[in-house]
Amino acid sequence: MNDETSPQANFDVLVVGAGIAGLYLLYRLRAAGLRVRVLEAASGVGGTWFWNRYPGARCDVDSMHYSYSFDDSLQQEWKWTERFSSQPEILNYLNHVADRYELRRNIQLETRVRSAAYDESAGLWRVETEEGETLSATFCVMATGCLSAANKPNIAGLDGFAGEVYHTANWPPEGVDFSGRRVGIIGTGSTAVQVIPIVAAQAAQLFVFQRTANYVIPARNHPLGEGEERETKAHYDEIRAFSKTTPGNFHFAPNPVSALATTPAERDEIYEAAWLAGGGQFMATFGDLPFSPEANKTAQDFVRAKIHQIVDDPDVARRLCPDTMIGCKRLSLGTDYYETYNRSNVELVDVSETPIGEITATGPRVGDKVYAIDALVLATGFDAMTGSLLRIDIRGRSGRPLADKWSAGPRTYLGLMTSGFPNLFTVSGPGSPSVLSNMMPTIEQHVEWITDCISYLRDQGKREIDADLDYENAWVEEVNDAARKTLRYTCSSWYLGANIPGKPRVFMPYIGGVPAYNKRCAEVVAAGYEGFRTRSVD
Ligand code: FAD
Ligand code: NAP
Repeated sequence: MNDETSPQANFDVLVVGAGIAGLYLLYRLRAAGLRVRVLEAASGVGGTWFWNRYPGARCDVDSMHYSYSFDDSLQQEWKWTERFSSQPEILNYLNHVADRYELRRNIQLETRVRSAAYDESAGLWRVETEEGETLSATFCVMATGCLSAANKPNIAGLDGFAGEVYHTANWPPEGVDFSGRRVGIIGTGSTAVQVIPIVAAQAAQLFVFQRTANYVIPARNHPLGEGEERETKAHYDEIRAFSKTTPGNFHFAPNPVSALATTPAERDEIYEAAWLAGGGQFMATFGDLPFSPEANKTAQDFVRAKIHQIVDDPDVARRLCPDTMIGCKRLSLGTDYYETYNRSNVELVDVSETPIGEITATGPRVGDKVYAIDALVLATGFDAMTGSLLRIDIRGRSGRPLADKWSAGPRTYLGLMTSGFPNLFTVSGPGSPSVLSNMMPTIEQHVEWITDCISYLRDQGKREIDADLDYENAWVEEVNDAARKTLRYTCSSWYLGANIPGKPRVFMPYIGGVPAYNKRCAEVVAAGYEGFRTRSVD
């Protein structure tokens, strides 16, 4: 970068976060000849897969597809052992990537970024860390994660609980042995669905505090057969290219047929096949499940019938049956999830009508009853998409805080930049497909776009880029329009910020599909970064 970089800057680019996004950013930016430093709060790389060490944590996209594609030798040489790999295996993979490409020398661990401010006159970002360091760079990329700001629920008395409290997103690396203990788990989202069966098998007693029942499809995880692996590796490029044509960057496409165009018997046969195959494909059985309430209801009814078949106690089964659309949140995959409620040491505590009033020293109180426990697990999710960004004091032109600009919800152009915050990029930012997709290839697309953009600026002798407000406003409208066409818009979830009290209710990710999104990003570039304003070196 040299000539184009402010002489005062320590680096060309500062990247915050060393997860899947931060690692690949470092690889690409360094290859482009840029001086880069990655700042990471954790004591290791891996992001999501560093923090979420709770028992049962594994991916929900087949590992052979939830993996980097940028280097064919990497994807050919790496050996996944299971269909959906466990957290330790994914973390090993990301550590392997860090070692293989010698990334560690530019990563500063145990460094939490507290603030980032744009110094307009110097044309650089000044970044302050909690450890008291100040660093500067021409560009700053927030690779801080969509699901990385843990949500600790605001329940009275939590801090006065006499037992141990664990949040799934900050699990002790040494693990926790629940043998012989009384445990409470708050939450029944994707995380809880993975934790509950494992803790149930260990603990003397498990109380599950459920506020909203969840649809859970069997994962059908299994060791990866050699034939399966060989077949995928032989066709990796085709499969990856095909994935980019599907709405969610998955290796399967939704069946274009309407659920309503089939007879009930045909439909059930298709749902049954997807149930037996396991995995997220269940939502792809019919193309109109995310759009038509009547179509969606057919899938809901199928899963509710399964719950009643699996769970012995009809009252427990009834309480486990969700009354929302299926696919409100990303579909949860489980192993023996509903079966777990047949165990004599597991009790489902419905807190939908009577919430947990407080956590007493001995355990949660619901109504008049106190559930005495030794340990409490918070599987209570995240302040998603904006949380990790807004927990940093980010200031753009004229010192304007990002929190102020986003007070009514996030506003971005393509989920890549937000107007008034020049040279600041976000990976998987609000307004991009991010959490609605297989995030690995989606992250790769963002990283490549950002790296190419910075290289373009260098080659053109430009030092500053900012999103044009008119284009940003138009994009926000498009993101909202796309959302309004789907049932997800009508259903309370973290996509809408509904899980965080006081958070603006805005559908944050772009739901118009990966192909439309990628096409738009490519067109913007082809038109000379249309909708962005660039400024040359003075
Ligand atoms: P992250 O992995 O979240 O990394 C962000 C990093 O930034 C973290 O290490 C964090 O410590 C760091 N950071 C944040 N703020 C600061 C700060 N102020 N200063 C310094 N460092 C900071 N997606 C899928 O597509 N398939 C899956 O199967 C899947 N499974 C998931 C399972 C779980 C339990 C969770 C929580 C998410 C899952 N996701 C899945 C989504 C997952 O988050 C992404 O796939 C991906 O890992 C995100 O990578 P990232 O690098 O963008 O962010
Ligand atoms: P989540 O979906 O937000 O679930 C949090 C759970 O905690 C919900 O059941 C929520 O109830 C409950 N909760 C929160 N505060 C509560 C309170 N005060 N009292 C009672 N209940 C409370 O979070 P998550 O399970 O961590 O999953 C988040 C996302 O991460 C997923 O959607 C998925 O994208 C990803 N993920 C993927 C996998 C995987 O399979 N690979 C695993 C884990 C996570 P309400 O629903 O009523 O708010």
